[in-house]
Amino acid sequence: MNNHHLIEEDDQEAAIEAFRVAHEGHTQEVEVQRDTWSIYCLCKRCGEINTYEVDNQARQQEDKEEALFTGARGR
Ligand SMILES: [Zn+2]
Repeated sequence: MNNHHLIEEDDQEAAIEAFRVAHEGHTQEVEVQRDTWSIYCLCKRCGEINTYEVDNQARQQEDKEEALFTGARGR
């Protein structure tokens, strides 16, 4: 099972907490990896993977700058 969610920046902690609550009783098998704009939650017992992507203005701005940067380096 693989679920992808778009969340707000402020919802990151809540998303992790919700995943932990959903796997209460065996949270030691829950693995959480946080990146700047995304969260990866895995429960080894259930084989469930949830990924959360932060959808916000800052991110869009950053992507735009990166595209400009990449474009400037290419031909
Ligand atoms: Zn589980």
